[in-house]
Amino acid sequence: SICYLDGTYQPLAEARISPMDRGFLFGDGAYEVIPVYSRRPFRLDQHIERLGHTLAAIRLPNPHDAAGWAAIIAEIIARNPWVDQSIYLHVSRGPDDKRNHAFPAQMRPTVFLTSEALVTTPAAQLAKGVAAVSAADFRWLRCDLKTTALLANCLLRQVAVDCGCAETVLFRDGFLTEGAASNIFVVRDGVLLAPPKSHLMLPGITYDVVLELAARHALPHVVREILEDEVRSADELWMTSSTKEVLAITALDERPVGSGEPGPMGRQMYAWYQDFKTTVMRGG
Ligand code: PMP
Repeated sequence: SICYLDGTYQPLAEARISPMDRGFLFGDGAYEVIPVYSRRPFRLDQHIERLGHTLAAIRLPNPHDAAGWAAIIAEIIARNPWVDQSIYLHVSRGPDDKRNHAFPAQMRPTVFLTSEALVTTPAAQLAKGVAAVSAADFRWLRCDLKTTALLANCLLRQVAVDCGCAETVLFRDGFLTEGAASNIFVVRDGVLLAPPKSHLMLPGITYDVVLELAARHALPHVVREILEDEVRSADELWMTSSTKEVLAITALDERPVGSGEPGPMGRQMYAWYQDFKTTVMRGG
């Protein structure tokens, strides 16, 4: 694929950064993953706004304004062969000549974007849902920031993979936070529940779309803290993310969720989400 690195478009295989880059040494950076449907970035403004929030919080000057980012993203989309893409956008605090924890006096942020074909959920997974495990959320207290320091998320996602599951559902102090790389929704007694945004979870772009669709279609929904026990006895569980969209979790810790099959509300939300995407991509 063709990537963008510090002002230059080049084949990904040829792109080089310094081993003294703080992104490499410290995971000192911010990132976004933006889905592209029919060569149009989906919810671009929201992704760029979230990037700005992360950069401001980690005190890394934003190297581009919204129009600047949009131009680079348009170029990446055009230079790559796929109609549907997944764009990875990364800003690190750049290289320093010494390995100091504190920021370098002269910051030269490294800006990297690349693209790959967007892999949609296989039909069998959509039909059956996926299995998940649970784990204690041992991440730091700024999970609202989309930083490249993802070691905890990597370890937690690997817990799922090691037991043949698709996601790890995280609990902190008896409450649901999110998944290792997704937000989690709960359905109980015909009501959609979502944990409130806080410093303990990423404010998902898909999370917002799901709540907007619930409001638009007058689906009963409540945003409130959700107890671990309420998750374990839920009628439906969903994971959401920009690349997974809305995916039913039909087993948690080897026990079926509800009927053990994707539930009616999840199927409805999936259909609304697909309609919404199509409408937006047509420019409606
Ligand atoms: N939480 C975490 C920890 C994630 O990594 C992701 C995926 N980036 C999400 C939630 C979902 O966010 P989005 O819908 O913006 O992809």
